[in-house]
Amino acid sequence: MASTRIGKQAVVIGAGMGGLTAAGALADCFDQVVVLERDILPSEPAYRAGTPQARHVHALLLSGQRALGELFPGFEQDLARAGAVPLKVGLDVRIERPGYDPFPQRDLGWFSYALSRPTIERTVRSRVESQPNTSLRQRCRVQEVLVTPNGESVTGVRFENSKGASETVAADLVVDASGRGAPTLGLLKSIGQPLPEETTIGIDLGYATCIFAIPDDAPTDWKGVMTFGQAPQNARGGLMLPLEGNRWMVTIGGRHGDVPPGDPEGFLNYAKELRTPTIYNSIRHAKRMDGVARYGFPESVRRHFERLEFFPRGLLPIADAICRFNPVYGQGMSVAALEACLLRKLLETPGAGGDPISCLARTFFAEVQTLIDTPWSVAVLDFAFPDTRGQRPADFETRLKFGIALTRLAAEDPTVHKLTAEVQNLLKPRNVYLDPALVKRVFAKMAEA
Ligand SMILES: Cc1cc2nc3c(=O)[nH]c(=O)nc-3n(C[C@H](O)[C@H](O)[C@H](O)COP(=O)(O)OP(=O)(O)OC[C@H]3O[C@@H](n4cnc5c(N)ncnc54)[C@H](O)[C@@H]3O)c2cc1C
Repeated sequence: MASTRIGKQAVVIGAGMGGLTAAGALADCFDQVVVLERDILPSEPAYRAGTPQARHVHALLLSGQRALGELFPGFEQDLARAGAVPLKVGLDVRIERPGYDPFPQRDLGWFSYALSRPTIERTVRSRVESQPNTSLRQRCRVQEVLVTPNGESVTGVRFENSKGASETVAADLVVDASGRGAPTLGLLKSIGQPLPEETTIGIDLGYATCIFAIPDDAPTDWKGVMTFGQAPQNARGGLMLPLEGNRWMVTIGGRHGDVPPGDPEGFLNYAKELRTPTIYNSIRHAKRMDGVARYGFPESVRRHFERLEFFPRGLLPIADAICRFNPVYGQGMSVAALEACLLRKLLETPGAGGDPISCLARTFFAEVQTLIDTPWSVAVLDFAFPDTRGQRPADFETRLKFGIALTRLAAEDPTVHKLTAEVQNLLKPRNVYLDPALVKRVFAKMAEA
C-alpha cells in the first residue's frame, strides 16, 4: 500500500457517516488518519448528541450498501451479524402512494438491509477502528482549520481536546465531515474569501418517531410500509421499517406546521390520520418501547463549492457539509458513502505535477455534481407542495406529469419498475429516463391521462 500514499497525515472532522466513510477512503493514502469527534463515542450502538437524526428511520439505499462494501469489504456480512433485517427490494416494503395502495410488490432481485442508524454507524466505526493507521479521538471539538499565512494551503486544525485544553494537529489534508460545514465556512470567512452560493428548498418538515415491538400477529405479506400523502393537499407521510431486535421503527411527519405531537397518544392519533390505515392498524395494539422523538428539518441545502474561484489547498468538505437532502427519501448516508468512494478514486489518481492534493477539491467539486444531481432531482419534487420555498424549476409541471406517467408505467411493467428502483437507489443516474424508447412510452401514458 505504501506506493499509493500521498501524504503523512489526514484529519477528518466528525465521526458520523460522512467522516467514517471518508476515513475508510483515506487509510491507504496517508501514513496516519486522525478522526476528531466532539461527542463521546459509545462502545455499543447508542444515540449521541451530535447526530440527533439517529433517533429516526434511516434507510440504507442499495448504492450506499454497495459503496460501503467497496470501502469495507464484507460489509454486508457485518450488517447481517449486527442483526440487520434483510429486505427483498420491491417486495418486502409495502409502498402506498395515491392510486396505488399498494404499489405492485415484486421481487426485483436484490437484498437491502434494515437496521437502526446507531447500529449502522457502530458497524462502520468498528471497521474504521480496525484500520491500523487510523485513530479516532472522541470529545475533541474542532475550533478552527489552520492555514499558511497567505491563506492558500491548509496546515492542520486546532481543537479543544477531551481535557478541555487547546491542541493542534498537522495535516496534509483536512476533510470536513462535520455535517454543518462550520469549520470550512469559518476558514473561508477568516481569510476573506466568499462563501459558496446555496440553493435551498424550504420544506419545514416535522418528524416524530417511536419504536414498537413487532407483535406476533404482524402481517406476513410485508416487513415494512411507506405511506405517501396526496400532493398538493396532504403532505403527511409515514415510514415503518424493521430494526434489529424484532422491532419496528415508525417515523411519521408533515410539513409547514402540520407536524406530529411529541406524546404517545398524539403520535397514534396523527398516525391514524395518515392517508391509509396500514401503519396505524399495525401499531395501535403493539407494545411501545420508548418515548416519541421529534426532529425539525427546515430545508434541503445544496452548497455550490464548484462555483468558487478560490478554495484552500488541502481542505475538502464532504457529505452533508456539501448537500443536505430531504430525509424522507433516505439518501444522505448513501451519498456520503458514494462521495467517499469518489474521494478514494481521486486520491489514487495522480494529479497534475504528481500532487493529487493540489487539485483534489476542484476535481471533487466538479465530479460530485453528477453524484448529487440525481438525489437532488428527487428533493426538487417537494415543489409539488405549494408552500415549498425556493426556486421552482420552470419545467416543474412537465417533470411532475412525466413522473406520474413513469410511475404508472412502472406499475404495469416490471422492467420499468426495476429501472425506477435503480434510480431511486442511486444505482443509476436520473438521465436513464431520457432513453428515447422510454420517453416515447411515458409520453403515450401522459397522453392517455
Ligand atoms: C431526520 C433525518 C432522517 C434521516 N434519514 C435518513 C435515511 O433514512 N437514510 C439516509 O441515508 N440518510 C438519512 N438522513 C441523512 C443522514 O443522517 C446524513 O446525511 C448522513 O448521516 C451524513 O451526515 P454527515 O456525516 O455528513 O453529518 P452528521 O451525521 O451530522 O455527522 C457530523 C458529525 O460531526 C461531528 N461534529 C460536528 N462539528 C464538529 C466539530 N467542530 N468537531 C468535531 N466533531 C464535530 C458531529 O458530532 C457528528 O458526529 C437523515 C437525516 C435526518 C435529519
